[in-house]
Amino acid sequence: MSTPDYQRILDEIRAELRPLLAQGEVANYIPRLASVPRGKFGMAVVTLDGQLYRTGDADEPFSIQSISKVYTLTLALQAVGERLWERVGREPSGSAFNSLVQLEVEHGVPRNPFINAGALVVADVVLGSHADARADLLATVRGCAANPDLRDDPEVAASEQAHGYRNAALANFIRSFDNLAQPIDAVLDFYFYQCSLAMSCVDLARGFLFLANQGRCPWSGKALLSPDLAKRINALMLTCGTYDAAGDFAYHVGMPAKSGVGGGIVAVIPGKLAIAVWSPALNAKGNSLAGSLALERFTSKTGLSIF
Ligand code: GLN
Repeated sequence: MSTPDYQRILDEIRAELRPLLAQGEVANYIPRLASVPRGKFGMAVVTLDGQLYRTGDADEPFSIQSISKVYTLTLALQAVGERLWERVGREPSGSAFNSLVQLEVEHGVPRNPFINAGALVVADVVLGSHADARADLLATVRGCAANPDLRDDPEVAASEQAHGYRNAALANFIRSFDNLAQPIDAVLDFYFYQCSLAMSCVDLARGFLFLANQGRCPWSGKALLSPDLAKRINALMLTCGTYDAAGDFAYHVGMPAKSGVGGGIVAVIPGKLAIAVWSPALNAKGNSLAGSLALERFTSKTGLSIF
């Protein structure tokens, strides 16, 4: 198959979706996210042979939020390997990303690492296995994205901290089942920090290319994960990466992907490319509305997907 004209396709998608940027709701659970202009739209594709294509606001950093859960999962798997699954499940939840309902029947073992409950347990594992978890996370993300200037946004983290009642409830509830080892405040603090990392579409496409490359960072040549574990993270992104819309997303888009309430979605086609999109207004499931459609159009127009 000849290489698709990625640049033309990205520009086309951006033009086609412009009228849709007025729809959906920008995340408003914290003021810092509510003030992001809904008209923003960016996309970037990075191929394994090193080509970069971008359109719109692809270089503007935004809050990656839940996308960070892929990086903390990477650190946790590096540290404890498959033992992680004694404390977190691997099944799609079918409930909202911040739901508490399943935790009680599941005795404090969250359904998967990408719902908030699961990410809190993963954060606990990372804290317990790293002397300076923040610094190691930041260094990992910077290395993956090949961007030494990438940083967190303390205002976003402080805003989450001030409004984080539900996450605090989740952490306390999990702790009541003895599934958190570190102090609850430390777990929440690290979780809010990871969510506050700011990345552009270009950063994210570069930063996820290791998952299209069998776990190996294409820039440094460093293996972050074994090919086996990289495959498993991709499987989890396909089944759980877009919250309770993962089935629909797999049906329409056909790529392992992770979304965040900042309006970003990043997806990979193993052996081929990573693609990121950003549009702040969300659909009812908390995924970027135009972003989800943009990825669907991308796989339709290019004929690429994992299937
Ligand atoms: N910081 C957000 C929260 O914990 C992240 C959720 C998300 O992006 N889905 O609610």
